[in-house]
Amino acid sequence: MAEHPTYLWWKGDLVRWEDATVHVTDLAWSAVGGVFEGIRAYWNEEQEELNVFRLREHMQRLKDSSRMVRLPIEQDVDDLVQITLDLLKANDTREDTYIFPFVYNGGAARFDPRQMRGTLMVRTNPQPTHLCTGHTTRAKVSSWTRISDNVLPPRVKNISNYRNGHLALHEVKLDGYDVALLLNPQGKLAEAPGACVMLIKNGKLITPDTASGILESITRDALMTLARERGLEVVERTVDRTELYTADEVFLCGTAFEITPIVEVDHYAVADGKTGPHTLALEEKLLGVMRGTDKDHPEWRTPVGVARRAATGSA
Ligand code: PMP
Repeated sequence: MAEHPTYLWWKGDLVRWEDATVHVTDLAWSAVGGVFEGIRAYWNEEQEELNVFRLREHMQRLKDSSRMVRLPIEQDVDDLVQITLDLLKANDTREDTYIFPFVYNGGAARFDPRQMRGTLMVRTNPQPTHLCTGHTTRAKVSSWTRISDNVLPPRVKNISNYRNGHLALHEVKLDGYDVALLLNPQGKLAEAPGACVMLIKNGKLITPDTASGILESITRDALMTLARERGLEVVERTVDRTELYTADEVFLCGTAFEITPIVEVDHYAVADGKTGPHTLALEEKLLGVMRGTDKDHPEWRTPVGVARRAATGSA
């Protein structure tokens, strides 16, 4: 496997990876207002095709984030989708992959929004799935509070927001845990650094609502749909910390975390300390749907077209 793909997309073009450099003096404040997305594409061996999961929804959220931080980009959602597909094709990507579009201020000023100009970079890297591998995690509620809508809005994927998650994650890692859970200023459950949280209790899937201080996660949305289709009642509401201690199942969800079962919170085993049956079933369903081995929800998959390329033999 190559260390990195041949190309990334930057400033309006496919650029060879090693040529995408900036001067050291451009660093420091440059990323503070930047916004990004994390997207995954899954390789389907049988079809010899790469399927990007919910690409349009991610690009729409990138547009929303860029609007929110006043970094307008010239590309519309269709352009952003096409750029991503072109990049994956140019790199002949044939493995599970993470896609990172990033918009930063390429304009002169950072204090006057009228002079700010969004510059787009898109890079990819191989990232195998951990779904259905038995992967589990141990969580601790952090002593740090989640940022809130009128402090640094968690609804947008602004780079600065992630400092809050880092503080929490560093704390719990030093305390011997794997992942942090954050409460909002009202003391209710918000989310984890990089993932939303879901609980199963008495056949209901319960998750903090979108006003609890969370990113409106695209995986969360997909899982609420898949859970309903499985016959689970889905409840979005404020969630107390102690509900974590009595839940039947708890898991994280997000593009990077996919579904990550939590088997222990604050030294309380979740149920019997093993991944629960609904979580296991949702893992299998989600992976099938994302890869396209399960034909449900074709509207969530954008095929890159590497299969067609191979069939025609064109470069
Ligand atoms: N919350 C935060 C803070 C995140 O960074 C992410 C990852 N994007 C998520 C939740 C999950 O969102 P999604 O399912 O859209 O990746």
